[in-house]
Amino acid sequence: MSTNEVKAFGTEAAEAPLKNLDIQRREVTPHDIQIEILYCGICHSDLHAVRDEWGGTKYPIVPGHEIVGRVTVVGDHVQKFKIGDLAGVGCIVDSCRECEYCKEGEEQFCENGNTIVFNSPDKKHGGITYGGFSENIVVDENYAVHFPETLDLASAAPILCAGITVYSPFKHWNVGPGKKVGIIGIGGLGHIAIKIAKAMGGEVTVFTTSISKADDAKRLGADEVVLSTNREQMKAQSKFDLILDSVSANHDVNAFLRILKVDGALVLVGLPVEQLPVGAFSLVHGRKSFSGSNIGGIRETQEVLDFCAAHHITADIELIRVNQINEAFDRLQKGDVKYRFVVDMASLKN
Ligand code: NAP
Ligand code: ZN
Ligand code: ZN
Repeated sequence: MSTNEVKAFGTEAAEAPLKNLDIQRREVTPHDIQIEILYCGICHSDLHAVRDEWGGTKYPIVPGHEIVGRVTVVGDHVQKFKIGDLAGVGCIVDSCRECEYCKEGEEQFCENGNTIVFNSPDKKHGGITYGGFSENIVVDENYAVHFPETLDLASAAPILCAGITVYSPFKHWNVGPGKKVGIIGIGGLGHIAIKIAKAMGGEVTVFTTSISKADDAKRLGADEVVLSTNREQMKAQSKFDLILDSVSANHDVNAFLRILKVDGALVLVGLPVEQLPVGAFSLVHGRKSFSGSNIGGIRETQEVLDFCAAHHITADIELIRVNQINEAFDRLQKGDVKYRFVVDMASLKN
């Protein structure tokens, strides 16, 4: 298959900074669209992957999985998009389409292994996938979503990972009026989780280790803010139906299991490198669940975008240029972002 050379920003080693790279994108096949990338968010998963914290990263890697842009080419059989449409691409760019989960629209759980937007072997077209820190991307139309024209494109890009990752468990665990929801960590996922949980009607308490973020948490919509390092404040907590844990590093989950209601659930979305010890007594008293959730399927990604458009929800972002990505990764490592970095991909060209 012939290819197109495309400018990108990535790295050839875990220790090396990201730099300009030339990558090959496939030619547009009949069900593909080509998207000129306008903005791409930076998720902590990009950082875990670039630095090979989870193991298994193949180099060179071009990260980026909160991709929004305009369709510039459509394949002969494309039905969902036309040239000029806005389109979004998140984590998943292909899956088997035949297993139980793909049929249910939960491609994130594809039994035969889905293809992730970067660093994933491309079973159909060969090679390894490259993500959104690039000029354009070629993707099967079924794995792209319509991006609402009414949202600010840069600040809405993070809905494609951060948004869906918190929306999906909120739906699954029925967040709504009368539900007491906790959110741990005010980062990219946590800050948008506050907005989405409130829009769903939940009563929201935020747990943070950063006292400097307390005022922001209220501004973002939280009903209550708790400093999770303060024992007295933690002890005073009453019972939660659901606590969403978005922490990217090792931490004590037992402290949060303790403050769940009977039948309450602590749901991990954060992906710390180290294992998290769970005490049996934290779970059995109160029939509690320790659970997890992984992004969301394509249909639900469209749903969360439409939900955010209806409720005027976008991320609070710092818009940066491509040549600021390395600095942004260093700041993300320190929790120093309010609250999502988004890259203006036009800056790759000049
Ligand atoms: P982020 O912006 O860096 O936010 C993480 C937040 O966790 C920080 O802002 C901080 O909040 C808190 N935190 C960091 N280190 C901590 C520590 N040592 N102890 C306690 N709290 C700490 O990251 P993100 O982009 O939101 O991603 C969060 C995690 O979710 C990452 O591990 C990422 O890989 C994962 N993720 C998972 C999925 C999925 O599908 N499951 C999807 C996307 C991302 P405070 O300052 O408020 O304490
Ligand atoms: Zn992500
Ligand atoms: Zn499947």
